[in-house]
Amino acid sequence: MDAIRLAPTGSVFPQLPCCRCGDNSRYWDRLGGKTYCPNCTEALAVGDGESIAERTDRRRCAVCHHLGTLRYLTFPLNSRRPVEMDLCGEHLRALLSRRLGPHAYGQLRRQLTGLELAVSRIFLLHEAFYDDHGHALQPAVEWY
Ligand SMILES: [Zn+2]
Ligand SMILES: [Zn+2]
Repeated sequence: MDAIRLAPTGSVFPQLPCCRCGDNSRYWDRLGGKTYCPNCTEALAVGDGESIAERTDRRRCAVCHHLGTLRYLTFPLNSRRPVEMDLCGEHLRALLSRRLGPHAYGQLRRQLTGLELAVSRIFLLHEAFYDDHGHALQPAVEWY
């Protein structure tokens, strides 16, 4: 299985409330099988509150091929068919806090393009957060 893949067609993803605050107004991202709204994702990114302590999968990171990953699932803009990415702790954290390096950003962009998904449709990778060369424009500030 590829480290970045579209969910199989026909799989059903119910609209689940955020596991931290209970907000269920939209389809939110999932981390290691749990649902997080953008506010709670942001809190994780800046190290505010409990961090994620899910068991890792024995799979390889989409960026660095490190063995031992968490699954990140997100719904591309205007799509009910989510895309899943296997990411190691370091790269998951960098993705959530919008501070991937140009190399890591390029790796994700290349694999998403292979699935005919433009990075502009993935919220955490879209053009307000990275320029064309993959330089982070608005990294979250960690203050713990
Ligand atoms: Zn929340
Ligand atoms: Zn990695």
